[in-house]
Amino acid sequence: MSTTSETTKKKLSERERQMQQTVLKRFRSKVSPSLAQLVKKSDAVAKQFLPSPYEALDFGTEAPFEEGKNNHGIYGLERIYEDRAVLTPYFECSAYCRYCFKKTRTLGGEAKRMTDENIDAAIRYIGSDSRIKTVLITGGDPFIDAELLEQVLVKVAEIPHVRNIRVGTRNILFQPEKITDELAEMVSRFNHIDYENPKNSRNISVGLSINHPDELTPEVVRAAQRFIQRGITIRGQTVLMKGINDDAKTIHELISLFLAVGIVPYYLFHCMPVIGAKHFRTSVQKGIDILKALSPFSGSTAPHYVYVTQIGKHRVGPGHQLDYVEIDGLKYIKATTPYKAADFLEFSDNTKLPPLHEIDENGYVVSYYLDGDDDELEVL
Ligand code: SF4
Repeated sequence: MSTTSETTKKKLSERERQMQQTVLKRFRSKVSPSLAQLVKKSDAVAKQFLPSPYEALDFGTEAPFEEGKNNHGIYGLERIYEDRAVLTPYFECSAYCRYCFKKTRTLGGEAKRMTDENIDAAIRYIGSDSRIKTVLITGGDPFIDAELLEQVLVKVAEIPHVRNIRVGTRNILFQPEKITDELAEMVSRFNHIDYENPKNSRNISVGLSINHPDELTPEVVRAAQRFIQRGITIRGQTVLMKGINDDAKTIHELISLFLAVGIVPYYLFHCMPVIGAKHFRTSVQKGIDILKALSPFSGSTAPHYVYVTQIGKHRVGPGHQLDYVEIDGLKYIKATTPYKAADFLEFSDNTKLPPLHEIDENGYVVSYYLDGDDDELEVL
C-alpha cells in the first residue's frame, strides 16, 4: 500500500474529463469516511470506488439482474435454486462499488426496503416449501439497518426447515466501526446446535466481499473477528478485476491473508457484464489460469471460481475447457448448465428463460455468457 494512490493523483486529459462528466451524470457514487482514507492510500481500492472515465465506454447491460427480483409477487424475494431463497430487506450500501450490478437502479436516492408485509409474505413463502434449506440475506447491505436485520432473522429462524442463514456484506470494509460487539452478539444468537437432534440445528454465517489484500486493514480484521470469536464463520468472496487483482500473486496473497485472519476463501467471481464495467472485465480464462498457477500452494484453489448468469452460478475450475461462440461479433461462452429449465421456471416464477439462455434436448439450460478480454486498457 502506498501513501498516496496513483488513481487519486492522476490528472485527466480533456477527453477523460468529458467522459468523467458523463459518468458522474449517469451513475451514482459514494464512499464511506473510513473507505475514503483507504482510497487515498491504495490504488487497488481507489479504482474500485472512484468514478472512472472508462465507465462511459459503450458496453454491457443495465440490469443483468432485476432489482429485488419480486419473485412470486413478493418485493425483495428472489429464488432461482431449489434449496435457496434470497431476501433483500434493505437496498442501500454505505459506498458504491463501480463494478456493482445494482449501481444504476437499486442503490442511491431514497433507501428502499422491504415492508413488514413484504417480509411476512416472503417468510410465508419460504415456510411453505420445505426444500428451501438456505436463506441468503443480502442487499444493499443488511448490516446498515441492524434492527431490520434482526426482525428478519427472528422470522427466518422460526422456519423449521431452514438450516443455513447467510448474511452477505461489504459493510465490514465500508463501516468497520459499525460492526460492534452488540451487532455480532445479536447475529450469533441465531446459531443453534441441537445436540439431541442435530437435524434441528441451524447455522448463521457471513459472506464478506473483499477484493484485494489492501482491504484487510486492522479495523476490518478487528470487525471480522467480532463475528469469528462468537463462532460465526466468515467466507471471503472476491470479484476478479483487471488492474486490481487479476494476477496469481495478488490472489495468492489475498487467499493467504484470508486464511491467516480466519476467513474461509469461498468464491472468486468473474466480473459481470454490467454497464460501465467493461474496463474491469478480464477473460473468464484468466481466472482459470490464476487458479491453475496457484494449484501447488496450500489452500489456494479453495475458492470456487464462477461466473454468474440470470439462471445461476457456473463453476469453472482449473482445467475447465471453455466453449466459445460468436454472437453479433462478440465472444460468448456457451455452457450446458446443471440447472433444469423446468426447475428454474418453477423456482423463479417465470414463464420463459431470460435472453441468452435456451433449453437442450434433455431439458437442461444452455447459457451464453459474454466474455471479457485481457487487453491493455485503451488510452483515452
Ligand atoms: S457492496 Fe455489493 S451491493 Fe453494495 S455497491 Fe458494492 S457490489 Fe453493490
